[in-house]
Amino acid sequence: MRLSPGATIGVVGGGQLGRMTALAAARLGYRCHVLTPEQDSPAAQVTDRATVAAYHDRAALERFAGAVDVVTIEFENLPVEPLAWLARRRPVHPAPAVLEICQDRLREKAFLARIGVPTAPWRPVRTRHELIAALADQQAPMILKTARSGYDGKGQQALAPGDDPAAAWARLGGAPAIAEARIDFVREISVITARGQDGTQIGYPPVENQHRAHVLARTIAPAPIPPALAAEAVQLAERIARELALVGLLAVEMFVTADARLLVNELAPRPHNSGHWTVDACAISQFELLVRVLCGLPLPDPGRFADALMDNLLGDAVESWAEVLAEPGARLHLYGKREIRAGRKLGHVTRLGRML
Ligand code: ADP
Ligand code: MG
Repeated sequence: MRLSPGATIGVVGGGQLGRMTALAAARLGYRCHVLTPEQDSPAAQVTDRATVAAYHDRAALERFAGAVDVVTIEFENLPVEPLAWLARRRPVHPAPAVLEICQDRLREKAFLARIGVPTAPWRPVRTRHELIAALADQQAPMILKTARSGYDGKGQQALAPGDDPAAAWARLGGAPAIAEARIDFVREISVITARGQDGTQIGYPPVENQHRAHVLARTIAPAPIPPALAAEAVQLAERIARELALVGLLAVEMFVTADARLLVNELAPRPHNSGHWTVDACAISQFELLVRVLCGLPLPDPGRFADALMDNLLGDAVESWAEVLAEPGARLHLYGKREIRAGRKLGHVTRLGRML
């Protein structure tokens, strides 16, 4: 289905990913209508239409559905039920079934195992017993992650052999979790791929991601890896998108091991922090690619024209905004968030490298 400029895209979620999607939509003459419980959200600040309500508010959902032509999401920790309700009234991309997999680390890892995609060794920790068993069998350090609602390293704890299961269990607070072997990777990469309504697939080269305290700090585009490994990573991401029957964007985070194997860490069926560089270094950004998928527009090669370095402005680092503005060639992006908290994503800077 093709939507012409002038149509309205419904964005569920009010964060910076929604904000940048709305900016890309506006450039092509589309409108965005944001649905979020948050007052004065980063996304709603750049649109003239927003419904500020709880996701379960039926009357608000009715108004939202009536005001939009297509619906997308900008983060995956959303209740699926309201999205399923919306999907009976409007096209919703990605489909709620995709969200159901990607918002739960246990389901996501089980899905990847089912389609034969390698990941870190893992086991479910849904009960105190399973945690005790995981610790008893543990050969090496593990990372315990809550199955749901984790982002930017939240809900994660390290587990070492000999650790007290009772303390770890208490920190989980009874939430279902996953225990993963800690991978001694040589680098982390990600691939962002788009899949159109007709199955067309297009995307970006793999990038390298450097994390600090489990939060993305820097993206290097493209990743300095051999072309064969880059091609393998892109093919892997495209296969996962097909297996999900995804319509939309998919970011696939991967570990590269010392013996040059790719292990998939996590999936995000939406724009991703590691794709922000595309706004400044490609003819078509990840946000515009999403808009094109949602509106059934052509999906040519995104046309990367430069290498790029993207640095997140986390917490206090945002206070360097004036210095960044004084730097020739630096491209500053701020998200309109008022409250500065340690590790919070408040903006980013892109610097272009070699031109192609
Ligand atoms: P989030 O949803 O918070 O991004 P991730 O699972 O991607 O959760 O974890 C955040 C970061 O923590 C990863 O990018 C990586 O740096 C580190 N990490 C997570 N899982 C592992 C693992 N199994 N082995 C080694 N490092 C890991
Ligand atoms: Mg991650």
